[in-house]
Amino acid sequence: MKRLVAALAVLAALAACGQAPDRVHTSADADAPVVVRPMVFREPDPDMRRGLGPDGRPDLCARAKCVALTFDDGPMEHTERLLEMLARYDAKATFFVVGQMVEEFPEVVRKEVEQGHEIANHSWNHANLASLSADGVTAQIQRTQDAILQHSGYRSVLLRPPYGSSNAQVAKIAASFGLPEIIWAVDPLDWRDRNSSLIARRVLSQTGKGDVVLLHDIHASTVDAVPRILEGLAAKGFKFVTVSTLFAGTELKPGHQYRERHAAVAR
Ligand SMILES: [Zn+2]
Repeated sequence: MKRLVAALAVLAALAACGQAPDRVHTSADADAPVVVRPMVFREPDPDMRRGLGPDGRPDLCARAKCVALTFDDGPMEHTERLLEMLARYDAKATFFVVGQMVEEFPEVVRKEVEQGHEIANHSWNHANLASLSADGVTAQIQRTQDAILQHSGYRSVLLRPPYGSSNAQVAKIAASFGLPEIIWAVDPLDWRDRNSSLIARRVLSQTGKGDVVLLHDIHASTVDAVPRILEGLAAKGFKFVTVSTLFAGTELKPGHQYRERHAAVAR
């Protein structure tokens, strides 16, 4: 019960993660079509599966067509199902976790780390960091760094401010933690449109080499879209890597913002 109440409280704060905080839902948003389909889980073609994951070269993405799929706001009840999908395709992803949810689902965060995914900081309770005092921003980042480290042994090296909302103060404090801000190049609006086919189509049509893609593992409709996303992007030659692998060989400056590898400076 405690877990459910906490999850609901966070969900309320997360209703529109990728959305600018001052934007208001229109009635069209509320009426967005919802298509519920049973999940069909096919084993990936072994030939296609080979070569999907990183091959260990540190500068893999300087040449290869890499994409970093990122999943925000969890962990939550659908996250373990997502981990099974990623494992079947040998795809690596990055989870921008909310500290409060790490406390609720520590075993899921440990599983994410064990399976080679990257864990990164998405604030303590999905606060709009640009609206907080310096002490407030520091507490949001510090508590989440501590929770990730305590429960998984992993030290996060990336920050994604909720809503992508940042300012000079947030940047300065992020820099004091040594954290670059990772925003996104592709937002398929999965936080608004709970329609798996639509989300998969948008990701497939909008993603280019070196992009960071914003998704949310708190929505079943997003998780249901993942096999189609993996198969579709793999067919176009993409490799699925963590954010740190995507940017390996470039310089990520603490406090600076990055959306895609293309814009980062090679070391
Ligand atoms: Zn978020």
